[in-house]
Amino acid sequence: MLYDGLTVLQHRGQDAAGIATVSGRRINLHKGNGLVSDVFGPQQMALLRGRVGIAHCRYPTAGSSGSDEAQPFYANAPYGISLAHNGNLTNTDTLRREVVGQDHRHINTESDSEVLLNVLAHELLEQGALTPDAALKAVEGVHRRVRGGYSVVATVFGLGLLAFRDPNGIRPLVLGKRETEAGDEYAIASESVALDILGFARLRDVAPGEAVVVTDDGRLFTHQAAPGHPHTPCIFEYVYFARPDSMMDDISVHKARMRMGVKLGEKILRLRPDHDIDTVIPIPDTSRDAALEIANLLGVKYREGFIKNRYIGRTFIMPGQSQRVRSVKRKLNPIPLEFESRVVLLVDDSIVRGTTSQQIVQMAREAGARKVYLASAAPPVRYPNVYGIDMPAASELVAHGRSEEEIQTLLGCDWLIYQDIQDLEEAVAGPKRKVARFDSSCFTGEYVTGIEAGYFEALERARNDAAKAKTA
Ligand code: AMP
Repeated sequence: MLYDGLTVLQHRGQDAAGIATVSGRRINLHKGNGLVSDVFGPQQMALLRGRVGIAHCRYPTAGSSGSDEAQPFYANAPYGISLAHNGNLTNTDTLRREVVGQDHRHINTESDSEVLLNVLAHELLEQGALTPDAALKAVEGVHRRVRGGYSVVATVFGLGLLAFRDPNGIRPLVLGKRETEAGDEYAIASESVALDILGFARLRDVAPGEAVVVTDDGRLFTHQAAPGHPHTPCIFEYVYFARPDSMMDDISVHKARMRMGVKLGEKILRLRPDHDIDTVIPIPDTSRDAALEIANLLGVKYREGFIKNRYIGRTFIMPGQSQRVRSVKRKLNPIPLEFESRVVLLVDDSIVRGTTSQQIVQMAREAGARKVYLASAAPPVRYPNVYGIDMPAASELVAHGRSEEEIQTLLGCDWLIYQDIQDLEEAVAGPKRKVARFDSSCFTGEYVTGIEAGYFEALERARNDAAKAKTA
């Protein structure tokens, strides 16, 4: 089940994968670099027995790039804990000093998740007992100390499964249940698609700040471990990261993307009521929902003008600029028939570095387009993401410190049109307004958790391409 769950969450990270289970007196752990299907074979799977377990697939987030950071992480004391974390902490350095200096624990990697595991371990130890209540209380201590975006699943030997979500609910976490002859079973995942394919009904999202325990014998305990914080889920999950067939904080990702298209289409009509667009062409895959709605609204043709090679990884993740440039060409190929002598509107979900867009605009011209317009279903990405989306250092973002006119010139398109932030937030919230506020920090520069002095400078040093090339 854990393996199957990981395969539908593979889009959330292709760097490394891992599974930890509890069986009898043993905690079994296997992890390694690569895709889920590369990391696990029949031999490893045979060892991963048990009725309780966690799994993780990883991609690098702010401040990390090493290869020893595959998850889950394991700590033997107290009790024996394995932990997997989705997100990124913004006070890792302070925590690391506390964990090493005061708690006398050893941290063996550069990973913020290993630090988080050790904070949890310390807080569990402080409770002095291993009961569901004690574990839920320990999470209060974690929330007090830790800053950032984090969704966590852990196994605690002798207890069962422990999961929690950061006080602002920046990273997603959803709870599912299924009834079996042996009793109720629970599953917790970043995206509901994992519950769907495993046959669990989606009960609800884990609330911001909430902690959940599922005991070895299948009992569920929940506790609000950080009350009073605004709920601000990451808006980039809806823009790009999550699968469209997932529900997140009760919002359909697919529907949110369609509404982004409607808003953007309306903006296009507002700005150019007598536009000359012949064809709307999505840049596959994420932007399809939005592009289709734009085409409907404008009353023009929707055409799949770019064919994607589905056997190639995401270009964004490759270190080093020249490698990235080459791989965009390998990844997308135009169908010239759909471009020749036409005014085309290309639609992407977001423009981050601009590398992809620049080359795609060029490809569209070479394929014969008369004019190339480019629409982004998200506003300009001007600030780094520090809560767990892999967004480069500010200096690498094409929109950082640039006006829309300057970006248009750089990308080489005849018209560049961005979604407005208010429209994006309204599109995601939807008519039922299920969420009132979002973490939109990569568009606005406003960070809901506050950020320690010096953090961005350190990030810039760690994340720039030169530093990455050295570690690659
Ligand atoms: P670029 O503007 O060249 O950086 O590429 C933007 C493209 O990368 C868009 O089509 C997005 O679909 C995709 N993208 C956006 N954010 C990410 C991310 N964090 N990781 C991987 N790909 C991303």
